[in-house]
Amino acid sequence: MLESTADVVIRDGKVVIFNYVLRSDEGEVLDESEADDPMAYLHGADNIVPGLESQMSGRRVGDRFDAIVPPSEGYGVRDESAIRVIPREAFPEDADLAPGMELVVEDDEGDLTPIWIAELRDDVVIVDLNHPLADQTLCFTVEIIGIRDATESEIEHGHPHGVDGEELDEDDEDE
Ligand code: ZN
Repeated sequence: MLESTADVVIRDGKVVIFNYVLRSDEGEVLDESEADDPMAYLHGADNIVPGLESQMSGRRVGDRFDAIVPPSEGYGVRDESAIRVIPREAFPEDADLAPGMELVVEDDEGDLTPIWIAELRDDVVIVDLNHPLADQTLCFTVEIIGIRDATESEIEHGHPHGVDGEELDEDDEDE
C-alpha cells in the first residue's frame, strides 16, 4: 500500500533529501547545502554525524528545525595524540599535497579512514587524524525536502545514489 506523503516519517531504510546550514556555536557559517543541490543521505547507515541522524528520526517532509550536536555526537573530541609523521615518499610522487587537504587511507583491515594534512616539512608530512570540526558544537538548521524508500542497491551500498536514486557512483563502476 502506498503511503501518503504526510504519513511518511524518517526511519531506517529511507533516503532523506534536505537542505542545511551548519554554524559553529558562535554563529559562523561552516558549511551549507546549495539552494539547487540539496543533500541526500540514507537513514540508519551512518552517512551523517550521529547527533544529527538521531534528531532526523520521525521528521516529515516540510519540517524545519534546529539541531544542536555536541562534539561527542558530531566530529568527535580532539585527540592530540592522533598526529602522525609520515615520510614524504609514502605519498604518491605526483600528489600535490597542501596543508588542510583531506586524503583517504586504507588501513590493514581495508577500512577507509580520512586524514588531513597539517603541515609539510622537508622530508615528512605531518598528518592529523582529527576531523577539522572536532571539538566543535555543531548548530544545524535543517529543512526536510523529500523522503523516499531506498533502492536495493542503495541499501546494499549503505548510501544514496543521488536525490532520485539513479546516480551512479564509483562503487557502481566496480560492479
Ligand atoms: Zn553506491
